[in-house]
Amino acid sequence: MIDVINLKKSFDNTTVLESINFSVKKGEVVCLIGPSGSGKTTLLRCLNLLEIPNSGAIKMGDDQLTFSERKFKKNKLLTLRKYSGMVFQGFHLFPHKTVMENIIEAPLIVKKQSKAKLIKQGEQLLEKVGMIDHKDKYPDSLSGGQQQRAAIARALMMEPAIMLFDEPTSALDPQLVREVLKVIEGLAKEGQTMVIVTHEMNFARRVADKVLFIDGGFIVEEGPPEQVLDNPSHKQTKTFLQLLD
Ligand code: ADP
Repeated sequence: MIDVINLKKSFDNTTVLESINFSVKKGEVVCLIGPSGSGKTTLLRCLNLLEIPNSGAIKMGDDQLTFSERKFKKNKLLTLRKYSGMVFQGFHLFPHKTVMENIIEAPLIVKKQSKAKLIKQGEQLLEKVGMIDHKDKYPDSLSGGQQQRAAIARALMMEPAIMLFDEPTSALDPQLVREVLKVIEGLAKEGQTMVIVTHEMNFARRVADKVLFIDGGFIVEEGPPEQVLDNPSHKQTKTFLQLLD
């Protein structure tokens, strides 16, 4: 589903991602872990083309985009962007729209479907994330956990092949974390392909097929959670995990 090949990303003169290589198969859940500032968010934003890599390539499905200092085709960028839906730390809902209005906004513009049909689809997704009773509420009357569940439904409305989560629970009070993680675990069980940046190691243990430990712009270690989290072979991974205890 995703192949990332020799991906490099710099901001001005600072290289954040040195040479990133990994693959995600259809239906796989990959968790990205690593110290703060190691480039996890940047990598996720590159997958969604919110950041444009300096070099390397990203392949999604049958589409591939190779980056270089030279110009590349903008339409290819849009093609690749359609593969993924992103859920951010801060939920980024439109404050002046209800939950339902928020989740049908993008498909109303992009998809050539009737509003009635989208509302029906929206109701199904809000049911799935446990938010159907809040569909006519505005974001500021909802808890952070409810807003994040609405944001997940909004991303799912575009039926992305891949869901990208950037520390989806880090802005939440501890008692609200569980309800959001449960929704993401439900998606994993349904076979949704996902890449998740997380500091929740127990969650990663439960949900991930593969864990990537990233540090200093490189993937230092990758493998199933029982290997990377419970029996890491690299010193950097061990040190990182010990600091979390
Ligand atoms: P992580 O998600 O692992 O905490 P980030 O990807 O957010 O790491 O950041 C990695 C590094 O890239 C940090 O040093 C950060 O300051 C830098 N960085 C991220 N975004 C930008 C940007 N838009 N401009 C300049 N530097 C950035």
